[in-house]
Amino acid sequence: MKSVVVIGAGESGVGAALLAKKMGMEVFVSDYGTISEQYKKELTGCNIPFEEGGHDFEKVLVTEVVIKSPGVPEHAILRMLKEKGRKVISEIEFGHLFFSGLTIAITGSNGKTTASGLLYHILKTAGLNVALGGNYGKSYARILAEEQPDVMVLEISSFQLDDIDTFRPYVAILLNITPDHLDRYEYKMDNYVNSKFRIAKNQKASDHFIYNGDDAEIMAKMASFHGSQHLVSITSAHFSQGIPSKDGSGMFELNLKGKHNLFNAACVVEACRIMDLSEDKIALGLKTFVNLPHRLESCGTINGVEFINDSKATNVDSVYYALDAMTKPVIWIAGGTDKGNDYSVLFPLIKNKVKALICLGLDNEKLKNDFKPHIPTVFETTKVSEAVEL
Ligand code: ADP
Repeated sequence: MKSVVVIGAGESGVGAALLAKKMGMEVFVSDYGTISEQYKKELTGCNIPFEEGGHDFEKVLVTEVVIKSPGVPEHAILRMLKEKGRKVISEIEFGHLFFSGLTIAITGSNGKTTASGLLYHILKTAGLNVALGGNYGKSYARILAEEQPDVMVLEISSFQLDDIDTFRPYVAILLNITPDHLDRYEYKMDNYVNSKFRIAKNQKASDHFIYNGDDAEIMAKMASFHGSQHLVSITSAHFSQGIPSKDGSGMFELNLKGKHNLFNAACVVEACRIMDLSEDKIALGLKTFVNLPHRLESCGTINGVEFINDSKATNVDSVYYALDAMTKPVIWIAGGTDKGNDYSVLFPLIKNKVKALICLGLDNEKLKNDFKPHIPTVFETTKVSEAVEL
C-alpha cells in the first residue's frame, strides 16, 4: 500500500491518516461535513492534505484502498467507491496491519468501556506495556502512530467491526447483544448480531473467544458457530456469589456495583488468566479500579437522598441493570431520543422500586404513555434544574 484515502475526519479517520503518514504513504482525507479545528491543525501540522464540506470524486478515486471512519454510514460516496472497485476498509482493519503485539478486543451492546477500562487498569497495574483505545479515547491507528505497546486493549463498536477483513484479536470478548443502533442495520437484529460476531471471525486455534453464555442472542448464534479458537462461556454461575479466585479460597474484592459489573469483571478476569497474570495481580487491579464518570456513578448524598448519575445508560438493557442494582426506593429521571425502545422488560422491575418518574427530554410522550400505568407518579420537564428540584 503506497497511498490511501481516508473518508471521515474524526478521531479514527485522523488516527488512520497519521499512521499512514508515519508508514510513508501518501494520504488524502475527505470529510462531507466540517472538520474540527483541532483535527485540521493536526493534519496541517503533518502535511496531510484534506477537504471538507463534500467529496471531490476525482481526488478520492486516486487510490486502491480507502479507509472509512466508523462514524460514516453507508453513504453514497462509499457505494460509489465500492462500485468502482476500491477496497474500503475500517480504521481498525488498517491499524491491525501495523501491530505485532497482542490484541484484546472487547465488544457488546453495553459494558464495553467499563470492561476495557478495567482490563487495561489491571494489566497496567501488573506492569505490562499496554495501551487502551479504539472506541475509547485514542483511536487504534493513532496509538500505533505514537507507540508500539506489547498489549493493546481495544474497545470496539459494531460500526468498527463493519468493514474489517483480517482483524484478528488474540482474545475477543463479546459481552452481550441487545437491540441498539438498529437504524444502522436496516432495523434487522440479525445484521447487528452478525456485526458483533465479526470480532471472532478471523480467530485461529491459538486465540480465545470469551462470550456471554446467558445471552439469548449470543447463544442462538453460537449454535451454528464453527471456529477453531478456544471458547470460554461466562454465565451467572461464575459470579453468583462474587468472583472466586482460582484456588477457590476466597472472592475478589471489586469496586463496582451491580450484577452486570460482576459479569464484566468475570470476563476481564478470564482474559487476565489467559494473559498468565497471577491471581495477586488480578486482585490488586480489581480492588483499585475506579470507573469513568456517568456509569452508575454515585455523586453524593443530600438529606438522605443519594444522587446517582447513570447517563451512559442509553438503551433499555443498561437501564434494566441499573435499576436492578438499586436497593433503595428510586426516583428515576429519564429521557432522550427514542430508538424504537421496547420498555416492557422494565415493567416487572420498576413495580416495586420506582416511586416516581421524571421525564426529561424533548419528546416525553412515549415514556409517559408507557410508564404511567406502572409508576404511581410521573412528572415532566425539559430542565435539569427543575428535575432535581422535583
Ligand atoms: P458501553 O461502552 O458499551 O456504552 P459502558 O461501560 O460505558 O458501556 O456502560 C454504559 C451503560 O451500561 C452504563 O449505564 C452501565 O452501568 C451499563 N452497563 C455496563 N455493563 C453492562 C452490562 N454488562 N450489561 C448491561 N448494562 C451494562
